[in-house]
Amino acid sequence: MKDQDREDFVAVIGGGPAGLAAAERIARAGRAVRIFDRMPTPGRKLLMAGRGGLNLTHSEPLDRFIERYGESAGRLAPIIHAFPPDALRDWAGSLGVETFVGSSGRVFPTGLKASPLLRAWRRRLEGAGATIHARHRWDGFDGDALSFTTDGRMLRILPKAIILALGGASWSKLGSDGSWADALLRRGVAVAPFMPSNSGFDALWTQRFADMAAGQPLKNIALCFDGRRVPGEIVLTRTGVEGGAVYALSAALRDAIGRNGEATLLIDLKPDLSATAIRDRLGRPRGRNSLSNHLRKTLKLDRAAIALLREALSPEILADGARLAEAVKALPVRLTGVRPLDRAISSAGGIAWDEMTDDLMVRRIPGLFAAGEMLDWEAPTGGYLLQACFATGVRAGDGVCRYLER
Ligand SMILES: Cc1cc2nc3c(=O)[nH]c(=O)nc-3n(C[C@H](O)[C@H](O)[C@H](O)COP(=O)(O)OP(=O)(O)OC[C@H]3O[C@@H](n4cnc5c(N)ncnc54)[C@H](O)[C@@H]3O)c2cc1C
Repeated sequence: MKDQDREDFVAVIGGGPAGLAAAERIARAGRAVRIFDRMPTPGRKLLMAGRGGLNLTHSEPLDRFIERYGESAGRLAPIIHAFPPDALRDWAGSLGVETFVGSSGRVFPTGLKASPLLRAWRRRLEGAGATIHARHRWDGFDGDALSFTTDGRMLRILPKAIILALGGASWSKLGSDGSWADALLRRGVAVAPFMPSNSGFDALWTQRFADMAAGQPLKNIALCFDGRRVPGEIVLTRTGVEGGAVYALSAALRDAIGRNGEATLLIDLKPDLSATAIRDRLGRPRGRNSLSNHLRKTLKLDRAAIALLREALSPEILADGARLAEAVKALPVRLTGVRPLDRAISSAGGIAWDEMTDDLMVRRIPGLFAAGEMLDWEAPTGGYLLQACFATGVRAGDGVCRYLER
């Protein structure tokens, strides 16, 4: 295919934060850009993130921030240095959406919603000449061209350059289902298998406990696993556990369950008290109080925490003050499975870093770039996901402009 046969625009496939960020850079450079998305409107997952307040990024020092990307920190560091959390906050501000730092250091829009941001962003993109083609499902490559299905018809386009920003493989009802992987694998591009990230886990609860505890939070606790300690809160579910502190350990827990079939999480139900202080309090005269009442009065444990102690500990330990005090500080909960990928907040896996240039072009397909969650990185919740999606989108958008200049 000769270069002059190509139409003079850049195709961005996927209208999530990564794709829209890439499109904005291209439009701002004065180039024609068309955004294609299979859904009736773009940004569905961003809107879903808005339901939880839209944790855009985090305010911690940049070096610490970048460590959150684990094995991918080295590849993401220059990309995030070029578009750091402050740049993301400024960008939101430029759309009329101010941000604030919450008590945990997380950054949110003041309205705690995604819709005003997405609306203003769309307006600005369209004002800059970008066009959005909704209900266009990308089916793969047709030689050098791209083929789509729209309204039951096939469409074939041959743009000057392409950015894939098709997302990961969780919450498929919002548009991203990971089906893009086949098209790239067929072209010889290595794609690491998708795995749940920031997911819940299964525990072998008794029916009685599941009925009582499902939906109950455990607040002001700390989780320990594999030498790491994460303060925060979790939610007890009918099948196990989920929530922020679990998500922070989810990669390590998932990998351990993959290796050993199970992983034992330790829950510190009283992070502010030492085991000795707990033992002393439990040693106070109990009078006619039941053990549950004694735990509630002496340690201020709530109903869910007490039920969990009763679920996880034998009657002998419950009757032994010293052993019970140790268990309050390190309650073992055996996790036996990972919740399904489709219900995870994000996915691990995606296009292997070795396939990508520093500008996020796929080495073996010149002119094809990729950004966002479809690259092989993972990070805990806390704003790290969106920050990396925006920053890789910016890098791929700038990369396309540099490529076309050459
Ligand atoms: C419930 C929930 C809450 C979250 N909260 C937060 C949060 O507070 N903070 C945070 O940092 N992260 C959060 N995340 C994660 C964050 O939303 C994602 O990491 C981010 O949206 C990924 O951006 P992306 O652009 O790579 O992909 P996506 O946002 O998934 O966008 C990809 C787009 O590609 C389109 N697409 C996919 N396949 C095709 C195809 N074949 N043809 C055409 N179009 C296609 C999809 O329709 C979609 O619009 C949350 C996720 C969930 C599920």
